[in-house]
Amino acid sequence: MLKPINHVSCSPALRACRRLQEHLVAWLCDVNVGSADINQVNLVPPCVPTQTEADWLWAFLQKIDAGKSLLVRAQILADRPITEKELLRDWVDSVSNLSSQFQPTPPTWPVTPPTISAMAWQAFKELMEAFYEKGLRAGLPYATDGSPVTGGGVSYAQFVQEFRESHRLNPNLGAYEVCVLCGGPLEAVEVDHWIAKSVYPLLSVCPDNLLPICAQCNSTDNKGSKAVHSNGSFADWFHPYWFHANGGIQLNYDLQTRSIKSLAASPADAAKVANLDNLLNLSKRWTRKFKAEYISQQDELRRREQLRKRQNLSEYTQAEIVLHIQTEQAVLSPTKPHYEVNCVVFAAMLDQARLDAWQTELGLVS
Ligand SMILES: [Zn+2]
Repeated sequence: MLKPINHVSCSPALRACRRLQEHLVAWLCDVNVGSADINQVNLVPPCVPTQTEADWLWAFLQKIDAGKSLLVRAQILADRPITEKELLRDWVDSVSNLSSQFQPTPPTWPVTPPTISAMAWQAFKELMEAFYEKGLRAGLPYATDGSPVTGGGVSYAQFVQEFRESHRLNPNLGAYEVCVLCGGPLEAVEVDHWIAKSVYPLLSVCPDNLLPICAQCNSTDNKGSKAVHSNGSFADWFHPYWFHANGGIQLNYDLQTRSIKSLAASPADAAKVANLDNLLNLSKRWTRKFKAEYISQQDELRRREQLRKRQNLSEYTQAEIVLHIQTEQAVLSPTKPHYEVNCVVFAAMLDQARLDAWQTELGLVS
């Protein structure tokens, strides 16, 4: 979370879809509803708020996933015994109250699925995930402001585009884009579910849970589907929207290990920074980038020196090297990828011990 993160303008549409998921679950878990009741005649307000949403939801349930319609999953849930319906409803209530986890005294966060049958959980999971995989991809029944519409509603593509536009550090189209988590280049964009949708499928379209990031951050080696809480406690974790790092992460060059360590600007954030670093392997990735950039700068200086020799100019003095490094440092652009790492590279290069070794390493001693 090196860069600011904000909700995009179509977030109300995603939030409305999240509420529609809850309406669907409430209907399927109604003790008086069985699979025979799951039909278009019964799917009308007040089951869901408007007829527009009812029509979209009925069409959505007809979609086929892995050879079965989503309607089949809905029927499985509607036929579960009352005890299972109550357990699922309670679980949905807890998870839908995500924002309360970032209040001073949060309620218990469920760390496991509800104790319902595997078949019921699978049906619930596939149904909820389909709101993202099929519903959002094709378009939701909501305009940007969350009001119901019969066509042209907010889609996955619109969400990603809005996020990229509003988080672009350089407003010129075609300029480098930067990953909000690691500060690296945003080349292949992937939408991460901050809280894994495989474990919390109710959050599949929740705008507080969707984060376009670089493919490297989202890879299974880094964030993947790992937990972003400690056994149900979010106290030692940042959250992109609810508990952003807000400049609380610093990069520090460790001369002994020749590596970059992430540090908390405030001791109160130490655990959060450590958890984020572990989650994304930030120190390791930043160190790799640091080393590559350092070698690149060293190579550039060496080639500059060779050029001066060809031009019959005198060799670089240490003062000239310092001036060169300071100039490069001064013109670093904060809108380019790896800005923070590059700042550390130049700061490390200006360390006096480094400067003393610099000329020897470059073979400049005559
Ligand atoms: Zn990244």
